[in-house]
Formats: sequence, structure tokens, C-alpha cells
Amino acid sequence: MKITEIINMQRPILSFEIFPPKPGADFEPVLKAAEAIAKLQPDFISVTYGAGGGTSANTVKIASFIQQLGVTALAHLTCASSTKGEVETVLHQIKQNGIENVLALRGDIPEGSDFPQPNQYRYASELVEHIKKSSDLCVGGACYPESHTESNNWTEDILNLKKKTDMGCDFLTTQMFFDNNILYNYLYHIREAGITTPVFAGIMPVTNGKQITRICQLSGTILPQRFRAIVDKFGNKPEAMQQAGIAYATDQIIDLIANGVKGIHVYSMNKPEVAEKIAENLSEIIGTKQR
Ligand code: FAD
Repeated sequence: MKITEIINMQRPILSFEIFPPKPGADFEPVLKAAEAIAKLQPDFISVTYGAGGGTSANTVKIASFIQQLGVTALAHLTCASSTKGEVETVLHQIKQNGIENVLALRGDIPEGSDFPQPNQYRYASELVEHIKKSSDLCVGGACYPESHTESNNWTEDILNLKKKTDMGCDFLTTQMFFDNNILYNYLYHIREAGITTPVFAGIMPVTNGKQITRICQLSGTILPQRFRAIVDKFGNKPEAMQQAGIAYATDQIIDLIANGVKGIHVYSMNKPEVAEKIAENLSEIIGTKQR
């Protein structure tokens, strides 16, 4: 099913994320995680594309496996580490495997590379434009409530986002954020800029205190004081941190839904136990129990 059709349903939408194994690592645990998350009957499961494009074949393979389990898959696709021809090959595989949804991303620019070469897409908007013109795939894009790290400022980033949505992007998924007010403010400003594309709020249930501080530094995500206190207190106690992280994410999601945000994308990081707890906590709120 296309994500545009899912968005048209008159109810909150819940999706989870899986990432492929690193090159050389075991495939089986990832498939097991995908299977366990699919059992929760989310609206879709997204499969990331390895940084540097190294795991591209695995993305399609896992997305295809998810579809066989009866759940809609969203295959991520980046272009900064690939030529246009290589991107075309992956798009062909996506279509051949009956996958109808693609998250079109530029990806991070590989260090030391002479990017972009003439045979490469420079921005995600160029990739979105190409996919929309050459196929009937449903295409999503990324957006950044706290601005993309390469942008000089928020306004510039929103103007660039408008270029992406003008190319026909069907939906957007946000970078993780830990303060809902940041998202509400962002949504107000992108709507003011004429961006009417549906937005999925990206929520990360934090289960590792040390990791999150580093991830936030790299992505420019602010850790609010309330969350920082939780990491300080429970960061060295894995079980307690997981419990607190899930509670914090649940709280964020409930507030988002209460304030009219319809699409929730959970960065579940191959952890079915985390996805299960979130789905359970929202059983009546999102209707996961009735599915
Ligand atoms: P773009 O939309 O191209 O933006 C990149 C930068 O260029 C921004 O600063 C933007 O403001 C600027 N820009 C855009 N268009 C223009 C223009 N026309 N003129 C001038 N400037 C412009 N990475 C992976 O490797 N694999 C994944 O699976 C993956 N999944 C992700 C999922 C989500 C929801 C998010 C939020 C990020 C994901 N990423 C992933 C990370 C992403 O690849 C990086 O953040 C990357 O640096 C930017 O990709 P983008 O598609 O947002 O790029």
C-alpha cells in the first residue's frame, strides 16, 4: 500500500524503523527483529539505507521481507555515495520487489569526496524530482525541526525544504526531537512557508544514555533539561534507562496526538521489545489493540 493511502485514513498512524546489518554482520537477527515488529501490525516499517550506500542490497531485501509479512515497507534510498546509474539500479530493484514507498535522501557526503560529480544527484530534491517523473512510487523526504547541520539558519533550511516538496514529495519524516514545542513551532513555520505536505514526527525512545549524547551532538538535536536529568540519573543503568526512555517517548507521542499530529514514526532501532512496549502503551490511544 502507498503511504499516501495510509495517510488518508482517519486515525493516527504508527510506524517503526529497522536498519540493515552492517556489511559482514549476521542477517538473521535483523529479519527476526523485523518479524517481531511486523507482528505489532504497524502502518508501515521503514528500512534505512547504510551510510555510504554499502548495504543497499540489504535494504531492498529486508523491505521485501517485510512486505511478505503483510506489512507495508518504506525503503530508504540515499544518493550522495552513488552515481545516478547506481541509484537507478536500486530503484529498479525496489519496483521489481513490489515496494511502493521510497524515502529519498541525499545522505551524508562521504569525507574527502569531490561531491557532487556530474553524474550524481546533488540534493534530495533532485532525487525526488527524478523518482516522481520516472515512476509512480510514493516518495517521502527528511526534514529537520532543529535545522539541518549544514544549513546556515532555519529560514534557509525551510526554503530548501520547500524546493523538495515542490518536486512532489508526498510526505516528510522529521529528524528525532525531544521537545514537542520545537516541532509545533516548526510545523507552524513550514505551513507559513507554503509547505502543506503531511509530516511524520520522528520519535526516538532512548535506551542508551551514552549513545544519545553523541548522536545529539552530531545531529544538532537539543536534549531538554528534563531529558538530560533522566540520562544523568539512569544512563549507567541499562534497564532503568530503557524504561525511562520508553516512558519519555510514550509521553511525547501522547502529547503529539492530543495536539493533532497524526503521523508518528518511531526510531525503534531493531529493538522489538521497545516497539512492543510503545505499541502496548498506546493500545487505546492509537488503536493498536484493535488492529
Ligand atoms: P537534502 O534535503 O538534500 O538537504 C541537505 C542539505 O542541503 C540541507 O542543509 C538543505 O538545507 C540543503 N539543501 C537542500 N536543497 C538545496 C538546494 N536546492 N539548494 C541549496 N541547499 C539545499 N542517512 C542515511 O545514510 N541513511 C538513511 O537511511 C537515512 N535515513 C534518514 C531518515 C530521516 C527521517 C532523516 C531525518 C535523516 C535520515 N538520514 C539517513 C540522514 C540524512 O541522509 C542526512 O541528514 C543528510 O545529511 C541529508 O539528507 P537529506 O535528504 O535531508 O538532504
